[in-house]
Amino acid sequence: MNFIDLFSTAQAWIFEAMVQPFIYQFGLGEFTEQAFEGVEWFLIGVCELIVLYALLRPLEAWMPVHKITDSTARWNDFIYTALHRLGLFTLAIFFVLDPALDSLTGLFHLQGMNPFNLDNLWPGMVDHPVLVFLLYLVVLDFFDYWYHRAEHQFSWWWALHSLHHSQRNMNLWSDNRNHLLDDFLRDVYMGLIAIVIGVQPGQYALLVVVSRMIQSLQHANVRMHFGQVGEYLLVSPRYHRTHHAIGVGHESKGKGSIGGHNFAVLFPIWDVVFGTALFSKEFHMTGIRDQLASPEGSSRDYGQGFWSQQWLGFKRLLRMDKEKIKVRIR
Ligand SMILES: [Zn+2]
Ligand SMILES: [Zn+2]
Repeated sequence: MNFIDLFSTAQAWIFEAMVQPFIYQFGLGEFTEQAFEGVEWFLIGVCELIVLYALLRPLEAWMPVHKITDSTARWNDFIYTALHRLGLFTLAIFFVLDPALDSLTGLFHLQGMNPFNLDNLWPGMVDHPVLVFLLYLVVLDFFDYWYHRAEHQFSWWWALHSLHHSQRNMNLWSDNRNHLLDDFLRDVYMGLIAIVIGVQPGQYALLVVVSRMIQSLQHANVRMHFGQVGEYLLVSPRYHRTHHAIGVGHESKGKGSIGGHNFAVLFPIWDVVFGTALFSKEFHMTGIRDQLASPEGSSRDYGQGFWSQQWLGFKRLLRMDKEKIKVRIR
């Protein structure tokens, strides 16, 4: 039995044993197809978690950038990763994207066209699946770059995104340490763009998995870069760490109109083109400047556990976060 067969068998088994009875019990028959797809996303998430742990944990042990100073950091970020990759992402797809897909398809159908579909723009391209995959990856990444820049540009958005940056012990699970509201916005934004440019659902699953795995590597506590040329081709752990660096990456002035460097999600080319690239050779410490004690001895608290981090994110968003914890000046 190969992996695909094993996967399909597991999907069918989980669906029949756990999901179907629930659907019948509550008369949700019309959602059967989506629920079956949901089980697929859940299983993809499980496989991702296993592969990430098997590959990245040994790397972190072998070539760490720094010693972990907060023993709960990794566990807390794991909760984020499990929550997002096993469930919330799927829910966002079903309740927002599927209905949106239906109405968009209807709209295009009505007009007898799909203006952005690859096959219309570049006839014959669809016969080269690897090229199509890479092209979609690049186009989606372009939009992801601007999403990330916007998270830093607008203060309400930074109120949410700063939760991601408040991790001072970055680790293999830190990619998903985000405010749930921000997660939801990004999933919907990326999913809608994928629909508009004509990505098929099966392709989208693979694009998402490849992108998420690379992003998990970027956040791992590993002293790794991709070499002189490679650093320009793919965002490495060192390149993304520079974005997270206190007073260097996201907080410094770039050549562009806003402060900050290294917003690219997968391909550093966007930072090069838009003047926000910084190829530092250092492995910097990460976090946000206001987490450090000010001369008055106070610093901003971004929360320790999942709930307090989410709650404080909401308070920052609503500008209710005036509290600062007192810390001793060392
Ligand atoms: Zn950022
Ligand atoms: Zn990050």
